[in-house]
Amino acid sequence: MSKAAVHDIKKTWVIDHDKCRRCGMCAKACTTKLLQKANKEDYPHPREDRVDSEEQIGNFFRYNTKACANCRVCVITCPREAINVEATTTVW
Ligand code: SF4
Ligand code: SF4
Repeated sequence: MSKAAVHDIKKTWVIDHDKCRRCGMCAKACTTKLLQKANKEDYPHPREDRVDSEEQIGNFFRYNTKACANCRVCVITCPREAINVEATTTVW
């Protein structure tokens, strides 16, 4: 009997605000337009309508979103290595 697996990928977008210089390159490069311009204090900022939940942990902001394609273009683009997108896979 063949078996089927269902994969659920949870993506967490992490920004280190100590490293971020608010250049906006990640927001400009984002392939899904998940990252958008916001006010100067918290720029760059994910689009609120694409964020499922968020929690602030120290200087890190974590966003779980299904809209993120996990392409890592923002990670590669950032000149400060301030962004990471963590993906975890659950197999049922
Ligand atoms: S991994 Fe891709 S889709 Fe996700 S926030 Fe970065 S650039 Fe946008
Ligand atoms: S590219 Fe990096 S330094 Fe520039 S705004 Fe994005 S996270 Fe901050």
